[in-house]
Amino acid sequence: MSDYKAPIRDMKFVLHEVLGAEHLLAQMPGTSEVTADLIDSVLEEAGKVAEQLLAPLNRQGDEEGCRFDQGVVTTPAGFKQAYETFSQGGWIGLAGDPAYGGQGMPKTLAVCFEEMTMAANSSLALYGVLSAGASLAIARHASEELKQAYLPRLYSGVWSATMCLTEAHAGTDLGMIRTRAVAQEDGSYRVSGSKIFITGGEHDLTDNIIHLVLAKLPDAPAGPRGISLFLVPKFLPDNNGEPGVRNGVSCGSIEHKMGMKGSSTCVMNFDGATGYLVGELNKGLACMFTMMNYERLTIGLQGLGLGDASYQTAAAYARERIQGRAATGPVAPEKAADPLLVHPDVRRMLLTMRANTEAARALSAYVGTQLDMVYFHPDEQVRARAAKLVALLTPIAKAAFTDRGFEACVLGQQVLGGHGYVREWGQEQHVRDARIAQIYEGTNGIQALDLMGRKVVLDREGLLDVLVEDIRAFIVAEKDGKVSGFVTVLEKALLTLLDTTALVRSASAENPNETGAASVPYLDLMTLILYGFMWARMVSVATRALENSDVDRDFYQAKIHVGCYFLDRMMPRYKSLAEEIRAGSDVLMAMDAALF
Ligand SMILES: Cc1cc2nc3c(=O)[nH]c(=O)nc-3n(C[C@H](O)[C@H](O)[C@H](O)COP(=O)(O)OP(=O)(O)OC[C@H]3O[C@@H](n4cnc5c(N)ncnc54)[C@H](O)[C@@H]3O)c2cc1C
Repeated sequence: MSDYKAPIRDMKFVLHEVLGAEHLLAQMPGTSEVTADLIDSVLEEAGKVAEQLLAPLNRQGDEEGCRFDQGVVTTPAGFKQAYETFSQGGWIGLAGDPAYGGQGMPKTLAVCFEEMTMAANSSLALYGVLSAGASLAIARHASEELKQAYLPRLYSGVWSATMCLTEAHAGTDLGMIRTRAVAQEDGSYRVSGSKIFITGGEHDLTDNIIHLVLAKLPDAPAGPRGISLFLVPKFLPDNNGEPGVRNGVSCGSIEHKMGMKGSSTCVMNFDGATGYLVGELNKGLACMFTMMNYERLTIGLQGLGLGDASYQTAAAYARERIQGRAATGPVAPEKAADPLLVHPDVRRMLLTMRANTEAARALSAYVGTQLDMVYFHPDEQVRARAAKLVALLTPIAKAAFTDRGFEACVLGQQVLGGHGYVREWGQEQHVRDARIAQIYEGTNGIQALDLMGRKVVLDREGLLDVLVEDIRAFIVAEKDGKVSGFVTVLEKALLTLLDTTALVRSASAENPNETGAASVPYLDLMTLILYGFMWARMVSVATRALENSDVDRDFYQAKIHVGCYFLDRMMPRYKSLAEEIRAGSDVLMAMDAALF
């Protein structure tokens, strides 16, 4: 049975020692009060919430699942009470706007909190994550009246929110949606249509559910340019702002699915429901992207968190379980066999899991700092630069954390052999829960296409240049230092990335299929370089820390070991990924459709 331990020590290492987050936050008016002590106390409290409130309900939530009966959805036993406690702790509005009751904490800190909650109980955490994301879209794009009416109750968790994009015939291609909105004389809209796969569309956790719905006006332009965004509450607020008349929104059914069973996935029907425009008409997709970009990073954290939870169980198991003897002779001769940890292949699995998890944790906090700079930094140039990095890194974080996170869950299952396949240890649940993160919030294939197409091939703003500048600055600073081995490999990999980028850019100008053909290996190549960059920074800090005698030597020594594993055994894959990219699209497109 899994027993999740929040990785507080590692998060403190990343925030304080690697990124110097408190110094950065101190420079910005909106975050200057977030001291190192405050960071630590939020991390520690969040860790307790994850370990003590959410994790104990994870298994039960999976076994019981959500139930549907005539439009009513009941979540697993214990979820409602835990959600109330969670909300009352102010966690849903952690990074919310203080003007409307949010806690105003930086994203740098929120990413750590979200990783822990996702690791402990993704199904339950997801309800809160959606409310936080929807609140962000409302805070940025809605009228003052809507903000005042909805944000305080969303931040406090008494109401929750959803994002309603997908329709049966329109998933990736949202330009085809059929949900309609008709303007009313009082300025509101009547929204009609059917959405599928809506997370948290109906449940018993909160008094009201606020749907952010994509719809088109009857005379809207065709395709994505005709999409608008509407706020559609389940209950229309009365004069006191409390849930009043029931709106024309109902849940038709819930899905029976592979994992995330405590999270309701609903068919939502809108029958002339009253809705309120958010942002400008026909600009709805851009407004929704405020929420989706937030959710993309958070869904990445689901992959990262579950990979870590799986690692924790697998590492503990590999220490205890005895099977076979070490190839070099018994290490536990007093026992019938040696622990699994003596076998190189078991170590390969554990080190792969851990190397990806810890690099992703550092990268998520790095993206968090950039997001904070976008919103809080007083210097416009710094904000603009950070925005470029965020645009580039968001699809990578979503896809890389969830692909590597799922891979970690499968490896964590493999470490336990048959015991990983049966329910007892919780490893198979992690695999089932992690799988969806590669699919929702835009499939990982679409994230790769966004990166390769919009963010690299078609980019005119120099997004990649900003990242390359940062990595190069590190290489120059550390070239002759203690991590020069790392730096040499990082530099070669970076040159390979730049070569392949130039190749794909020019090939795509001749043949548009080249962009899609290169996209997934290109995202994997970028991931390796970013993880290598994070590992080089972490190993550099750990090496320096070991020069002091009064430090936790095991912690820093382990960092260096895992970093070296990444450098020696994982980083070289950049060469084969570059070869795959160079192979181009011809071989993919040659086979006639009828032959598939
Ligand atoms: C459990 C669960 C929860 C969900 N929660 C929500 C939610 O809260 N709100 C919401 O609106 N939606 C939600 N979704 C929907 C989810 O976001 C979509 O399933 C996802 O975006 C993919 O859309 P689709 O299923 O229609 O697949 P399709 O769009 O049909 O895609 C099928 C495959 O083709 C690929 N593909 C499609 N178009 C292209 C292209 N142009 N280029 C290259 N490859 C392409 C895709 O990558 C994918 O592999 C949820 C889904 C599930 C299963």
